[in-house]
Amino acid sequence: MNHQDIPAGTDPKGALDAPRASGPAIPGSLEAMAGDLDREFASLNADERIRKAFAIFGKDLIATTSFGRDAGLLLHHLYRLGIDVRVFFIDTSFHFPETLAYRDILTSAFKLDLRESRSFEPDNRRYAAQKDGSLAIMDTNACCAINKVGVQAAFLGRSDVKAFLTGLRRDQSDSRSHTPFVHVQKGKLKICPFADWPAHDVELYLQIREVPEHSLAKEGYSSIGCSPVTCTSKPLDPNDPRSGRWVGDAKTECGLHLDYEP
Ligand code: SF4
Repeated sequence: MNHQDIPAGTDPKGALDAPRASGPAIPGSLEAMAGDLDREFASLNADERIRKAFAIFGKDLIATTSFGRDAGLLLHHLYRLGIDVRVFFIDTSFHFPETLAYRDILTSAFKLDLRESRSFEPDNRRYAAQKDGSLAIMDTNACCAINKVGVQAAFLGRSDVKAFLTGLRRDQSDSRSHTPFVHVQKGKLKICPFADWPAHDVELYLQIREVPEHSLAKEGYSSIGCSPVTCTSKPLDPNDPRSGRWVGDAKTECGLHLDYEP
């Protein structure tokens, strides 16, 4: 397996790999660059957006993935286009075993340069409890802050990370409906090459390219996050793919795609 296991309590900057010399300088202000690229990307297709991002940032471009239902879309593009960038995956310690198996399948199939990162808190499972025989999270915002948002902040804060690719799409939820192709998040350029892809196109791409499927997708999960019953279930509304996330809670995002903590 090509991923790197990072023990809790180690230095986030040193644990993943040795930061390289700083990459290409980003001219002008980050916001201005994001605006220019966002306008340019509107007339490009996803392949062209990814190629352009790699041409600008080289190895200081990274990809992020949760190995969820549609992870294969971005990861297959990187493989097919020969975009050899580091792929960051946050191990919350609450993933479904099926997600970890899917991580291994895609990592091997697409020869990913996978970097696993996890919380440096000594007890990152402090909010977990048994409820009616199932694993539940008692404070989901605090748990996401420790196990996801803080971990993301550590790797985005590296000097050898200038921009990051994500698979975020506008039709995934109301809160994502205005996702730009490029914008600044947490001090880095966030690039969403599939922002304008409808779910139907994603399905078609994954089928035509014969991308391996997450086994929980076959069971009816339309959005796959962490395994506790408080965090992921099958969708309540078939027209809302994220309606099975944090059911009974006002929460709709974990914070990885926000500039503030939910
Ligand atoms: S999705 Fe659930 S288990 Fe995962 S980090 Fe957030 S609250 Fe914790």
